[in-house]
Amino acid sequence: MLQRLQRLFPPRPAEPEPPNGRVTLGDVLRRDWFELWYQPKIDLRAKRLVGAEALVRARRPDGTMLSPGSFLPGASEADMLALTERVILTSLRDYEDCAALGASIKLSVNVPASAFIKLPIARMLREERPTAANWPGLILEVTEDEAMHDLKIAQEIADELRALHCSLALDDFGAGYSSLARLRQLPFSELKIDKSYVTDCHVDRTNAGLCETIIELAKRFELKTVAEGIETPHESHKLQGIGCDIGQGYLFAKPMAKDQFVSLLGRRMVGAKRPAQKPRRTAAAALRGLFAET
Ligand code: C2E
Ligand code: MG
Ligand code: MG
Repeated sequence: MLQRLQRLFPPRPAEPEPPNGRVTLGDVLRRDWFELWYQPKIDLRAKRLVGAEALVRARRPDGTMLSPGSFLPGASEADMLALTERVILTSLRDYEDCAALGASIKLSVNVPASAFIKLPIARMLREERPTAANWPGLILEVTEDEAMHDLKIAQEIADELRALHCSLALDDFGAGYSSLARLRQLPFSELKIDKSYVTDCHVDRTNAGLCETIIELAKRFELKTVAEGIETPHESHKLQGIGCDIGQGYLFAKPMAKDQFVSLLGRRMVGAKRPAQKPRRTAAAALRGLFAET
């Protein structure tokens, strides 16, 4: 796999900054500024780290980091496809480092809908899958407004992925206009509730109602729910109380570089072998404690 990554994306000598100061995805890929960072996903009931979302970052030669919001908008389709291939291959390689620690976690990657048609994703996964015997597969996140319109193709893709233990998640749910009927038809196994609904859901009655409805609906369709952008213990507590399965947000941890994520996992694995400690004060405090060093 490493060979394929190096063949497709050979290391290049550092190039100067783009002349006009505006960095594009093409610049990031060509200048090899690409990095893949990870943000933990937490089982809200068990208070356990169960996965992580891979998020692209760009590291400039002076060490400063760029977020995708500054270089993804307006990117060409060809560059988005190159990014997707690189993200998938890198996440498969990084999973090997997690598996070496004995960690059982599932990684998620963001995939533009067009990539399902234009990239041989299933073949890549089949050929490059990690060698660890218990590889749990990958979750491929597709945003709600991009989700495939051709249901037959979507179903075929989901079936192909399922055979490889991989599944589809509907990202940013609530930010677009999916009809309930469509949600039932689409072959997703995870639904990510958009941050705009999560914010203040413990006091904002509209958001609370929307989160409850989404979670109830997801359960009916046998989808796991992931709340995005949890920033406070109150939001986390509320979401757990209404049955949300998984949480992701700055309350638990911000996205972090791969080495930092692997070292966090390592500490968690060491912690798991320690004798049971006295129960901590509150669930949220316990979770903050989990990630206090990040
Ligand atoms: P997303 O897939 O919905 O990712 C979640 C975004 O929310 C991430 O922003 C994450 O850093 C941010 N976030 C997580 N928790 C919190 C929180 O508690 N508070 C706040 N304010 N933000 C939080 P990021 O990394 O800037 O990514 C933005 C978007 O860019 C992603 O949204 C995704 O649509 C896109 N993106 C990121 N990486 C990739 C990639 O590798 N490929 C593709 N195709 N798109 C990507
Ligand atoms: Mg996402
Ligand atoms: Mg999202």
